[in-house]
Amino acid sequence: MRFETHLHTAIGSYDGAIQIEELVAWVLASGIGGVCITDHDCVLSNRDIRALRESTGAIVVRGVEVTTNMGHVLTYGLDEYVPGIHDIRVLRREVDKVGGAMVLAHPFRSDVSPYYTYGDAPRGLPPWEEVLARPVFQYVDALEACNGSGVLEEETLVRRAANDLGLAVTGGSDAHKANKLGLCITQFTDYLSSERDFIEAIRSGVCNGIDLRTHGKAGEEKRAD
Ligand SMILES: [Zn+2]
Ligand SMILES: [Zn+2]
Repeated sequence: MRFETHLHTAIGSYDGAIQIEELVAWVLASGIGGVCITDHDCVLSNRDIRALRESTGAIVVRGVEVTTNMGHVLTYGLDEYVPGIHDIRVLRREVDKVGGAMVLAHPFRSDVSPYYTYGDAPRGLPPWEEVLARPVFQYVDALEACNGSGVLEEETLVRRAANDLGLAVTGGSDAHKANKLGLCITQFTDYLSSERDFIEAIRSGVCNGIDLRTHGKAGEEKRAD
């Protein structure tokens, strides 16, 4: 079963352009089983997403992409934005109170992506043991390996880190416009019937990220090592 786990709407994200009607149309056309709304530092109300739930039959998870002191964290299970959660320790505490899940979004974007350095060469990564010792990894349940704005090198690095750290990986398009929905998804082996099932599956790591543009080329590279 597949979920789109990372997207931004026009309602909750200053840089998002996706309307709920567009999301409804895409969910129906793609047949995807579940969709998570992850606006920047904003949890949509049930009223805002009622149409999505009622007219698609898909599992709709209210999430939020929290801008923390240790990077962007996709958070599932919070009912509202809680003051103070920009501190990742506070975020972990609040998420645990509600039995939610946390996924580190695009973990190495600022290290290696050529698209986010504003003309400068990416700074690259420090030695691998320093990468693995980054405190942020202690606070999250999984790492986002596939991101619609990511490059293959990022996916390869995230899979390597997740493997070394014993963390699961996810995928999400990070779509800000409707035509980017579903570029990357999270695949679950089990059938999930609710938001609670989704969160439990992320927490227990029975999921995988898939970049539907490259169809697992990073995995192939890894096998060839
Ligand atoms: Zn982000
Ligand atoms: Zn995002």
